[in-house]
Amino acid sequence: MTSPSPRIIRVAVPLPLREALDYLPPSGKAASAVSPGVRVLVRVGQRRLVGLVVESGVSSVIAPGRLRPVQSLLDEAPLVDAQTLGLIRFAADYYHHPIGEVVMNALPGLLREGAPVDAAGETAWRAAPGADPAAPGLARAMRQRELLGYLLELGADRAHAAEALAAFPGDWRPLMRALEEKGLVVREQRPCLAPSPGGGERHVLNPAQVEAVDGIWPQGPAPGFGVHLLEGVTGSGKTEVYLSLIERALAAGRQALVLVPEIGLTPQLLARFRSRFAVPIAALHSGLGDGERRCAWLTAARGAAPIVIGTRSAVFTPLPHLGLVVVDEEHDASFKQQENLRYHARDLAIWRARQQGARVVLGSATPALETLHHAREGRYAHHHMLARAGAARPPTLRLLDVRHKRLDSGLSAQLLAAVGERLAAGGQVLLFLNRRGFAPVLICQGCGWVARCPRCDTPMTYHAQARRLRCHHCDRETRLPEACPECGQVDPMPLGQGTERLETVLAARFPDAGVLRIDRDTTRRRGALAERLEAVHSGEYPLLVGTQMLTKGHHFPSVTLVGVIDADQGLYSVDYRAHERLAQLLVQVAGRAGRAEQPGEVLIQTGQPEHPLLITLLRDGYPAAADAILAERRAAGMPPFAHLALLRAEAPGEAAPMAFLAAAAAALRPRAARTVDLLGPVPAPMPRRAGRHRAQLLLRARSRAPLHRLLSEGLPLLDALPEARRVRWSLDVDPVDL
Ligand code: ADP
Ligand code: ZN
Ligand code: ZN
Repeated sequence: MTSPSPRIIRVAVPLPLREALDYLPPSGKAASAVSPGVRVLVRVGQRRLVGLVVESGVSSVIAPGRLRPVQSLLDEAPLVDAQTLGLIRFAADYYHHPIGEVVMNALPGLLREGAPVDAAGETAWRAAPGADPAAPGLARAMRQRELLGYLLELGADRAHAAEALAAFPGDWRPLMRALEEKGLVVREQRPCLAPSPGGGERHVLNPAQVEAVDGIWPQGPAPGFGVHLLEGVTGSGKTEVYLSLIERALAAGRQALVLVPEIGLTPQLLARFRSRFAVPIAALHSGLGDGERRCAWLTAARGAAPIVIGTRSAVFTPLPHLGLVVVDEEHDASFKQQENLRYHARDLAIWRARQQGARVVLGSATPALETLHHAREGRYAHHHMLARAGAARPPTLRLLDVRHKRLDSGLSAQLLAAVGERLAAGGQVLLFLNRRGFAPVLICQGCGWVARCPRCDTPMTYHAQARRLRCHHCDRETRLPEACPECGQVDPMPLGQGTERLETVLAARFPDAGVLRIDRDTTRRRGALAERLEAVHSGEYPLLVGTQMLTKGHHFPSVTLVGVIDADQGLYSVDYRAHERLAQLLVQVAGRAGRAEQPGEVLIQTGQPEHPLLITLLRDGYPAAADAILAERRAAGMPPFAHLALLRAEAPGEAAPMAFLAAAAAALRPRAARTVDLLGPVPAPMPRRAGRHRAQLLLRARSRAPLHRLLSEGLPLLDALPEARRVRWSLDVDPVDL
């Protein structure tokens, strides 16, 4: 006689395990009384972990005597609702990733660690009555004095939370603690997410905007699931369309989720939402403290924040009344996470919108080729906005042929002349170069020796201000060599251009114009980017130098000339997406120019002025260039005409990654049949990085189903390969770079 198997609870724990683990309910409770979505404390081996119940009341194949009970329940009601649990499960299946790690991506840090849900609130600070920055206690604490002054400026009558303090230059938190200890500021705990002010002015929509809004969400109740591509040139008023759609969603009693790229979540965008809607808006961005993040997340999860704006991980926020999803700049690469769970937030957003009957708007001036393809095949509705809203006219684009031209630190005489003219006319100029540092290569003029990273085998970038060499692939740093280690000749020479050099050269050339550089090096400090963007708008700096950080969504109304220093980087790259990326980048940079009354001009330096991609892009615009690239992809059997998954492996030894992938290919091949191509293994485009050798195996199929079937069946086989123990390996479904 076998006893009936007990009802158990299945718990996702933060460990790299393919499956959730089985537990008995805590003593005195029935398994079915423990709802999925509740957090529990469990033991795994000797460790105690916070896990999430993903199923309950089911039976287990494990012998009852070997099952342990859950130690305790952390929530009375589910923290994660059934819909979000469904999304987590889907992501785990689709990306073939451990479900416990998907949960880690979905929950804010504090909740992941088991913190309670009730203490949620927001901390704010106000100046103590009578507190004076000139007080003797602050005589030697300049920064504290500044912060106190800033608080008073924001308003002495009320407390100010982190969001208001974000614009204070630098890290204000330690300063605030010091001020608190001196009794000069008072801390207040208040319920999180006060409604924003609302009541701001609004534009009367132009006909193209009206058509888009009515096409996407006809006046009235929620229209249900559907994906709409809103293809509109920069400045055509897409954000204004989002605002009207959100208004309709809110009127229908539904929540709106707005996903934005990493750095697109600027204070300006948030301010626009806040002045439009007098409701609590949950903004989930990297500037939040842990408590604030929990606060925003919980308010959204309880349905009390009608609007959630956030970067990619916001797609996992529980939203019980979801009715509208906006993915702004939907082509942006930051929506794809490049480590751990390699998910695409846009793709998950569409899946979840289907589950919850929500409308999806994908907005971009340069839609991703997959998105355009879906629109052309009729799966997505397609709306166009071809003209700029308001008074702005589109910029003109021109190629500058730099073949056989003498360049001054990468700048042609033509470009320099154009910059000079614009500055003289009082305009603002933006020069774009997607390479930070002073020079990408340091070379010996005696013997041709190049300073390389010993861990990556690639040249190290010379940073002049820091007087150091830095590897941009592994962050290794070394001192600048005074002489060549090979032949002893002194003063190796920096070769090529980076933004730092450009800044130096321009400052020397145009001594009266202030130069402002915006790249990862100048914006590392918290708040530094906001500060610099503010400075751009103040007009103190007629000359702006930046990397692609500057191309995303920012409005620079006074910029009338954009110079692209080097368009050739993207033309001959091995990455199959290089052309798509280049076309998007050029159009996006161009979009920064002439947004207000003055028309803009874009000058693109290239050594390939006859390249078909550049010709098509300039003559016929992005849609035509996209068609040409799609035709290439179709011919090559690459996405969106095929589906890819990439197995990557790395190890300190050179042979291990290739050996593992060869064994993997051998294990998969009999099951791949004729439906999935196995391409490789080959060394990765960067064969060594941070001291580890890297290789990859590409899986390609015409349709998704056989690819995913192969992965489901095959991955457990790979886990069991002896070669797997000698490498670190990972799977990337729908990889964006190969
Ligand atoms: P996008 O998001 O497409 O770049 P925005 O919505 O930010 O465009 O609009 C660009 C500029 O045009 C903004 O300054 C905005 O205030 C203005 N604008 C948008 N719609 C209108 C309109 N219907 N009438 C007048 N100005 C508008
Ligand atoms: Zn030398
Ligand atoms: Zn390196």
